[in-house]
Amino acid sequence: LASGDGSVRPTIFAEMSALAAATGAANLGQGFPDDDGPQWIREAAIDAIRSGENQYPPGRGIVALREAIAAHQSRHYGIELDPATEVLVTAGATEALTAAILALAGPGDEVVTLEPFYDSHAAAIAMAGATHVTVPLVPSTRGFAVDRAALETAVTPATKLILVNTPHNPTGTVLTREELGLIADAAERVDALVITDEVYEHLVFDGATHTPIATLPGMRERTLTVSSSGKTFSLTGWKIGWVTGPAQLIEAVLAVKQFLTYSGGAPFQPAIARALVGGDADIASLRETLDARRELLLASLSRVGFSSVRPEGTYFVCADATPFLSADVPDGAAFARWLPGAVGVACVPLSAFCREGSATAEALANWVRFTFVKNDQTLATAIERLETRL
Ligand code: PMP
Ligand code: GLN
Repeated sequence: LASGDGSVRPTIFAEMSALAAATGAANLGQGFPDDDGPQWIREAAIDAIRSGENQYPPGRGIVALREAIAAHQSRHYGIELDPATEVLVTAGATEALTAAILALAGPGDEVVTLEPFYDSHAAAIAMAGATHVTVPLVPSTRGFAVDRAALETAVTPATKLILVNTPHNPTGTVLTREELGLIADAAERVDALVITDEVYEHLVFDGATHTPIATLPGMRERTLTVSSSGKTFSLTGWKIGWVTGPAQLIEAVLAVKQFLTYSGGAPFQPAIARALVGGDADIASLRETLDARRELLLASLSRVGFSSVRPEGTYFVCADATPFLSADVPDGAAFARWLPGAVGVACVPLSAFCREGSATAEALANWVRFTFVKNDQTLATAIERLETRL
């Protein structure tokens, strides 16, 4: 990039998955499932290919999928959307986020995110030429929580966008209604727009509730809500995502989206439309399976000697690797590069989700993220290796 911004670089996920493959490590790094999503949904895509749904779908997405997305938002959250103008299908949440940021922010604008943040958020802000301002998530009694004083100072009249992510990758935090209220107040105070990344909306545990910020008073009109079928239905490679919100904002995102991909995923769109309508039992069963795997991984990390934070959502656990560091392996980044070869397990350093040199990067320098969205065998292998070799 002309600005020399370091956010646009090979993703840590690709690097760690390559290292896992090269070393034969159990891959608890990149967040994708070992086991594909429900067979009936996969069959629906095969049916769509057979019945000739193989050419460009409409730029906004097929009507059945837009209707299914609107019905999903209504059924789960009471958000009413016009599928004709307020729903846009995208190539995964990644495209929705990037197109929205490119559409709404530019040089001179500030975009506020939490820190740590998902890496594509920072890259999209850099591609837009906007300035990235961060609000730390700090350890609290319930895990990581929004630093309220930092939120107040970060959001100023220069703030064009506030980017929210709940359930939060990498920390697993589910933002509370109160925290979302503070973010909403800050957005209203400076008349900023909000983009909210809710790809883990259905992956919440321990009775935690996912609250879309668009449901808070006054927020529907200034919020773009992004989600994706990848996590919800364990079909990450299909890249069917969406963004919903006021027609005028969707129009702006569509203007950019047409020149990123125009459209995509023709046979996957009708399959995901059916999944969103009839897949609630599959979602519940995935949540139950993941909950059990979360307990397994947390218990094992604790036996090995990590202190970790119990995630309320997502499929990630963050853990402090300090007890295992040495002169040769001095921090979380070095640990993540060392672990696959030495122990046969891959993870991801939290520094990859932070700005270089930031206070949060310093605070989390020794931390790493493990995913538990892997099958019983991968998880058992990883646990056995951590417990016997580390
Ligand atoms: N946002 C977050 C927080 C993520 O963890 C991911 C990774 N799947 C994405 C967006 C990207 O989603 P998709 O694969 O649908 O592009
Ligand atoms: N969201 C996944 C993760 O956090 C990675 C997806 C990707 O590699 N783009 O691990």
